[in-house]
Amino acid sequence: MTQREINPYPYTDSNKRYMTYDWYLKARFGGKIARVALDQGCTCPNIDGTKGRGGCMFCRNGSASSPEGTLDMQYERGREQARAKWDPVGFIPYFQAHTNTYGDPAALSRAFNHAAEWPDAVMLSVATRPDALSEEMTGTLIRLARKIPLTVELGLQTSDDGTAERINRCHSFAEFLNGYERLRHAADKVNAEFRNEAARGDAKGLPMKRFQIGVHLIDGLPGEDRETMLKTARDTAALGPDMVKLHLLHVLRGTRLAELFEAGEYRPLDREEYVRIVCDQLELLPPGTVIGRVTGDAPEDELLGPEWCARKTEVANEIDKELFRRGSMQGAAYRKD
Ligand code: SF4
Repeated sequence: MTQREINPYPYTDSNKRYMTYDWYLKARFGGKIARVALDQGCTCPNIDGTKGRGGCMFCRNGSASSPEGTLDMQYERGREQARAKWDPVGFIPYFQAHTNTYGDPAALSRAFNHAAEWPDAVMLSVATRPDALSEEMTGTLIRLARKIPLTVELGLQTSDDGTAERINRCHSFAEFLNGYERLRHAADKVNAEFRNEAARGDAKGLPMKRFQIGVHLIDGLPGEDRETMLKTARDTAALGPDMVKLHLLHVLRGTRLAELFEAGEYRPLDREEYVRIVCDQLELLPPGTVIGRVTGDAPEDELLGPEWCARKTEVANEIDKELFRRGSMQGAAYRKD
């Protein structure tokens, strides 16, 4: 019997013992879906002085972002690049750079609604901070989700307020919860309207929600031990998010983290530690939560360390092997209180 044949995890068609985004999107849309990362030139309340200055200590964009071309050009370029690699049946315009619900509400709304009309766009993703969800912006997201399936991805990174302060995150866990609950309320409202659509798209009993919420976590933040990272995973699991992205903290040139690293005051996780922690976290998360990623994604020319993180396939393979060795899978230690 192969690893695939004896895999007890239900939401997969491979040896993966967690729900990959790729599997989820195929189940939902019937084929390969590619994401196109977009930069609409936003800044961030943690950069412009509203909440803080200089940004999180690992953020290489300590100033407003500088998009390469218009959104239309970026989308076209992304589609061409994806088509050179795969045969996608659809695309997800992903508003990724900086804080995408922070700025002129009318301009942001125009950009999102324009993207919703792009050819082959099947869903939109919007990345933001939990403290940048005004009532007006939440209303825009509700209207957007009525037009096209939507995922809003919130950066949490850690539920530990001491770490958040250390990395200059400039929001607490309580502020995150506040933003999350506001968004959950909005998402529930839209999802109730689209209940029939969600049931039609159902794969293996998994509802395909119209408005989904993702949470980003980072492992290896300065001063955190395994227990702190597992607590963040438990706190996140308790919220029942639709998607979680697990990132490895990597050191990029020009950041404040790079200064610590070069002074020998920050040691990144080694690969074995990271793999074990990610597997522990996958066990703690709900079995039906999409795992948007399990590695970091560092631009090679800017990466100072750890060098192993550039070999993403190896990291993903080690995670598969570790879950298999444990006879475990996503959700194995999940407790719904
Ligand atoms: S919230 Fe995001 S964009 Fe803003 S400083 Fe932190 S990492 Fe950078």
